[in-house]
Amino acid sequence: MSAACARKVGRPVRSSSTSKGSTLASETPALTGLWREAGQARAKEARLEVDEAFIAAVLDAEAHTLATAPLRDADVSARIGSIARRVTFPDGSVFETKDNDGIDRLLRGAGSRTAGVVSGLEQFRPRLIAFVLLTIVFCVAIYRYAVPALVEVAIWATPPAVTTAISQSVMVSLDNSVFAESTLPEARRKALSDGFSQLSALTPRGETQTPGSPAYTLNFRRGGSIGPNAFALPDGTVVLTDELVELAGSDDEIVLGVLAHEIGHVDHEHSLRQLYEAAGTAGLIMLIGGDIGAGTEDLLTQGAALVALSHSRGAEREADRFSVELMHKAGRDPAAVARFFELLQKKLGDTGSDDFLSTHPATPERIAETRRYAKEIEAAGK
Ligand SMILES: [Zn+2]
Repeated sequence: MSAACARKVGRPVRSSSTSKGSTLASETPALTGLWREAGQARAKEARLEVDEAFIAAVLDAEAHTLATAPLRDADVSARIGSIARRVTFPDGSVFETKDNDGIDRLLRGAGSRTAGVVSGLEQFRPRLIAFVLLTIVFCVAIYRYAVPALVEVAIWATPPAVTTAISQSVMVSLDNSVFAESTLPEARRKALSDGFSQLSALTPRGETQTPGSPAYTLNFRRGGSIGPNAFALPDGTVVLTDELVELAGSDDEIVLGVLAHEIGHVDHEHSLRQLYEAAGTAGLIMLIGGDIGAGTEDLLTQGAALVALSHSRGAEREADRFSVELMHKAGRDPAAVARFFELLQKKLGDTGSDDFLSTHPATPERIAETRRYAKEIEAAGK
C-alpha cells in the first residue's frame, strides 16, 4: 500500500468547493471520465465527486448533476489492470473512468471493501496464507482419515457374492497360468485338511459357518513358479503349495501354523483392505455406489492375486499373532509359524525370490516376537 493511499484511509473527503452551486466536492481533484445514461450508447464527458457523507455525484461541465447516489449504493467494478472502472448508479447510468487510483482513493475514503484487487490482495495475504495452510491440512486429513474410513465402509458393504467372485476368478487365472494339480499323497492331504478344518472351526467366521458352506476351504496345488507358498483369498479360499508341504518335511504342525497365519489374513480382511486401498478414493466411491467399472473390476480380479501374496508388515504381524492364538486354542504348538520361518531361513536363505520368504519376510525380529508372544499365550493359558 502506498503512503499516498494510506494517508486517506478511513477519512471523509473534505469539501473544497471547486464547483459553484454544488455541495458535492472532493479533497482530491474530481475524477474525470464519461457518463452514459441507462441504455444509451452516447457518452458525455463528466466528473465524479464524493462529499463528506459519501454521496457520489456525476456532474457535467456546467456542474449540473447527472446522477447521484450514496456511494455504497453504487456498483463499482473491481480493479483489473488498467481497464477503465465503471461506477453504476441505481438509475442504471454508468460513469466510466481510467483513473483507477482515484477510484480506489474514493472507495478507501468510504471504507469500501472493494478497493481494487491489488490493495485487496495486500489485506488478503494473511488470510490467503491461512487458507492455503487449511487446504493442506484438509487434504492430509482426507488421506489420513477419509480413505481408511471409506475402505472400512467398502469392506462392510462388500457382499459375500463379490468376494466369492473375486476369489474364484483369481483361482481360475492362477490355475490356467501357474498352478498344476497337487501330487501330494492322499493321506498327507487328508491329515492337513483335518487339521485345517479343526483350526477354521475355532475362528469367528468358522463358529457361524453352516454345513455345506465352510468359512474356509483348503486347496492343494503344485506351486510351479510361486514355489513354497501359501496364501488366502478374501472369501476364505486358502491355497497351499506342495512345495511348502515338502519343505516342512514330515512336520504337519508347522504347515498348520502357516495355514493359521493365512486364516488370520482372511479374518482381518487384509486382502480386501489392501485391494480397496489400491482402488483409491474414486474406485471406492464407485464400489460403494455399486457401480463397478471395468477398471475397478480388473483391479479386483487381477490385483487380488498380487495382494494375496504381499501384505504390509503390520498385516503380517497381525496374522502371526492370529496364528499363535489359533494354534494355542486348538491345543497345538503356538510357535509353529515361527518354527516355519526359521526353517525357511535355514533351507532357502536368500536364494528364493518368488517364495514364501520373499512375500512374508522372516526377519529375526519377527521370529523373536512370534516366539515371545507364543510363550506369553502359553504362560497365560496355564
Ligand atoms: Zn502373511
